[in-house]
Amino acid sequence: MDLKNKHILVVGLGKSGISVVKFLHSRGCIVTAVDNRSDEALGEVLNEIRNIGINIELGPHNNETFENCDLIVLSPGVPHTIAPLNLARGKKIPVIGEIELAYHFINIPIIAVTGTNGKSTTTLLIAEMLHHSNFKALAGGNLGTPLIELVAKQETADFIVLEISSFQLDTIDKFRPLVSIILNITDDHLERYTDFDAYARSKARIFKNQEANDICVFNEADETILTVSENLAARRFAFNCRQFNEYRAWISEQTICFYSPDDGDQHVDCTDIPLTGRHNLENVSAAGLAVLSVGGSIAGIKSALQNFKGLPHRVAYVDTVKNVQFYDDSKATNVDAVARALESFSSPVILIMGGRDKGGGYEGLRNQLEQCVKHLIVIGEAAEKIKSVFEDMVPTAKAADMAQAVKMAASFAVSGDSVLLSPACSSFDMYDSYAQRGNDFVRSIGLLKRENQ
Ligand code: ADP
Repeated sequence: MDLKNKHILVVGLGKSGISVVKFLHSRGCIVTAVDNRSDEALGEVLNEIRNIGINIELGPHNNETFENCDLIVLSPGVPHTIAPLNLARGKKIPVIGEIELAYHFINIPIIAVTGTNGKSTTTLLIAEMLHHSNFKALAGGNLGTPLIELVAKQETADFIVLEISSFQLDTIDKFRPLVSIILNITDDHLERYTDFDAYARSKARIFKNQEANDICVFNEADETILTVSENLAARRFAFNCRQFNEYRAWISEQTICFYSPDDGDQHVDCTDIPLTGRHNLENVSAAGLAVLSVGGSIAGIKSALQNFKGLPHRVAYVDTVKNVQFYDDSKATNVDAVARALESFSSPVILIMGGRDKGGGYEGLRNQLEQCVKHLIVIGEAAEKIKSVFEDMVPTAKAADMAQAVKMAASFAVSGDSVLLSPACSSFDMYDSYAQRGNDFVRSIGLLKRENQ
């Protein structure tokens, strides 16, 4: 891709947008950066690019800016359907995302991970399993370092392991990973897609350019994935699968079994996996298959698992107060993640849900809540909506903030119960991020503990 002296418009100045601006500037492009937020809302980051002489337009988008450039690089936070982009497309101006841009400068094989849930955990698992199989792997994308920064650093590696969201997949064109992984597709982001099918089609773009020698690792138990992958050109490696005749993985009782044509069945003992829940066994299955498919070893996989520390805010144990255990699952921003978290508990749960609604329903959780949740506490913008779905079957109370939610939860709990924050909503009504929400939960538990000492 020849960028020198090209007029390039970068839309959206989040983390990856800023990295894109810097990258394009370093490649001799004439860059304009736009964001509909104000100077104040964007804060510090603006200075970084102002100082290198980037033309910046803030506030409502100006159609002319979109129509007078050679290329538009769109950030994942900005819907790819907004009107000024359609005007630009009408003028044959290409609109791509950061992943597509970076892809044109990469000659390291890419292992790309998507799915509604489990992307970050699986991405890190793969990177660790590759390291322990003596490969050098760089991890990034939606998680951690943006791909374009990995390109800018010009580091060498055997593989890049990339977490990729549906928003990022919406703006790929030629992006073609050596291995694509699609973990699951369940209701999410209906605030941004017209319907579930549109969201599922977006996920399936991960393998749209793959060819016969490439590999797709997918979840054989997920009906939606089976439907969207019907015309897949790549080799199919499946997890949650016994029947398949090439590489496959399945979970049985206390082991994950990996089958490959060269090595036959190889087992990993589930008690050696330091992560809770069946969903994490699926993540390990997918990660292991991907690693075996590129030449990693079962010894490397086992050694990585022994040392693996789960990520924070994913069903993470926080503390015990008066024999009640508290778990932070702030990253659970959709219904399926909550369902999988609840599956992991054998003790009665006091559940804290709520935040900003994402356009789907919560009804899918009714059976599970009835079975294992003894009290529900709702918070945030979606509190009333969630309450109305469950209050006929589970005692439900509304809390004004996190500290009150934690206090209420503690007052409803008896020795042996668990309190779980698993919101099924995004955090942006009350916090900047899921991490900030999780940290507030942890802080509130700290206060509670002090009060009870
Ligand atoms: P993502 O990057 O896709 O958001 P994470 O690994 O950060 O995935 O996990 C996000 C949430 O989804 C957490 O609540 C976690 O417990 C849950 N989760 C992780 N893996 C899975 C899975 N395979 N299926 C369903 N939920 C999962």
